Amino acid sequence: MTNSSKIRNFCIIAHIDHGKSTLADRFLQITKTVPEKKFKPQFLDRLEAEREHGITIKMQPVQMKFKGVVLNLIDTPGHIDFAYEVSRALKAVEGAILLVDAVSGVQAQTLSVLEMAKKEGLRIIPAVNKIDLSQADPKKTAEEIKEVLSPQTEISFVSAKTGEGVSSLLERVIKETPSPQSLPQKELKSLVFDAHYDTHSGVVAHVRIFSGQISQGEKIYLVGTKTEAKAEKVGIFKPHLTSERVLKAGEIGFVLTNLKDIHKVLVGDTLTHSPTLKPNFSVLSGFKKPKPKVFASLYPVDENDYVRLRESLELLSLSDSSFEFRPELSGLLGRGFRLGALGSLHLQIIRERLEKEFSLETLLTAPRVKYKFKFRDGSWQTTDQIEKIDFTLVSEVFEPKAKIKVIVPAEFQGKIMEYLHQQRGTMINTQYLGNSQRLFLEYEVPLVLVVRGLFSKILSLSSGFASLDYSFSGYKKEELVKVDISIADKIFPALSFLAHKNEAYKEAREKVDKIKEVLPRQLFEVHIRAQVGSRVIAKAKLSPLRKDVLAKLYGGDRTRKDKLLKKQKEGKKKLKQIGNLHLPPEFFQKLSK
Ligand code: GDP
Ligand code: MG
Repeated sequence: MTNSSKIRNFCIIAHIDHGKSTLADRFLQITKTVPEKKFKPQFLDRLEAEREHGITIKMQPVQMKFKGVVLNLIDTPGHIDFAYEVSRALKAVEGAILLVDAVSGVQAQTLSVLEMAKKEGLRIIPAVNKIDLSQADPKKTAEEIKEVLSPQTEISFVSAKTGEGVSSLLERVIKETPSPQSLPQKELKSLVFDAHYDTHSGVVAHVRIFSGQISQGEKIYLVGTKTEAKAEKVGIFKPHLTSERVLKAGEIGFVLTNLKDIHKVLVGDTLTHSPTLKPNFSVLSGFKKPKPKVFASLYPVDENDYVRLRESLELLSLSDSSFEFRPELSGLLGRGFRLGALGSLHLQIIRERLEKEFSLETLLTAPRVKYKFKFRDGSWQTTDQIEKIDFTLVSEVFEPKAKIKVIVPAEFQGKIMEYLHQQRGTMINTQYLGNSQRLFLEYEVPLVLVVRGLFSKILSLSSGFASLDYSFSGYKKEELVKVDISIADKIFPALSFLAHKNEAYKEAREKVDKIKEVLPRQLFEVHIRAQVGSRVIAKAKLSPLRKDVLAKLYGGDRTRKDKLLKKQKEGKKKLKQIGNLHLPPEFFQKLSK
């Protein structure tokens, strides 16, 4: 328990690889939070497994003491699929170090998070990192920062690696970050800014107390999920969980809830003592239940794995409250699940974790988004399952849009703008960053393009120099038609897509050609068709494999022929059989590349 004038709560905003973890290491050492002999690099980085995925990874929160002041450092998720989680973490602190790599300069992700931090009214403390490197251009980087903050901004210059400037940066944090203001109410009001599942203690809520206090053993109530529980323990992050008798307004710490379901302790929820709230008690604003924006179907490659797949998904959802799944039966693909996640990377992570942690091979269809349909009879429907929509009854279609931010060297401007216009993008803003010959572009584009690989296309157009970010920006009416794809005379619902009516032919052609390229040859000739309603608008033929293989054998030798056929069969073991077709598990991923 600390007097709140002696507390500073802050986070570090940085684009990936700009040195956040390394800077945190230096902070831990300067403040002697971790004994030198226990120290290892990237100390706060959680779970090795998460680190490998490079996405859900977040640093462990930590409390440090420096010059008589308590410093609470918490982390924001490092990936754009998690914008809401970032915004909640920012709500829990008063200050943010804006850390920018002096070699690569300000990047798109830096800007997005900075924008949110300003919205939350945080005190921003800018710092240029990696000044020890010979390629570094600290002056130019500082100019870029001034361009996005203000010309008067004071900028620190540090090397998280050598430690140069790091002490004085920490002193700035103490001097400039406001100490937490506690609200006048006496009732406990705290924000859940993160939560994790522990097999022994159940769900551990990471909280920032705004008013009142909480002690071990007290009743707790989660307002948004209407859940009652008990605070088995409360305490602080040192960074390991360290029990305290009480947490007070202004402090950051943990509450062991003993709840077994992470869906009861959601990021952004308010944690208080009891459901009978006093009339003047207002819930912390902005709580939203995680709402999946991107959907796909997931099928076991081997149908016998169905039950194991369901059990594994249940296990995964213990530690991840932001994806959902339910059983789905497809005539073609058999028994599987429909997944909802925060973004396409999030979906891929789930598939990867199934493979790595549960040895399950699955087939994941291309990510989809939800469209809104207005029907002639005046009714509405919002769905990603467009195959279920009868387009003859639809009067209007509304498409989800994304606002994207791109930062690129100016030389690529022309190429990228041309591409975005072809993709039905509309420009919102363009601006130079300082005198740096780098350009900041803001566009609105169909969300479906973002979840299906728009960014990798922009990266390749810019020879890897672009940095990108996006946020959902709402629905707009568009003239869209449904294109269905059939392979070997069967319609694949997972491949149906909506195209602008002027582009349906072109997109259908591309899709059909791509399928022909990605689909392995089968034992028979495969016809691939794209159609709008019953009208075929593009088609292709894939010639059979068998003939080619056998043609290599100059007639006769029966045993050789058998051997070859057997080999061919074994090669297909890992394929998913759909009707009479054999598909590789990455089929849908390859198609959307
Ligand atoms: P994060 O992704 O923001 O957490 O970045 P990391 O802390 O993991 O740093 C990314 C890479 O940059 C690592 O290889 C670090 O060793 C390196 N790095 C970080 N800070 C500095 C620095 O000040 N100077 C140099 N030369 N390298 C640094
Ligand atoms: Mg890191």
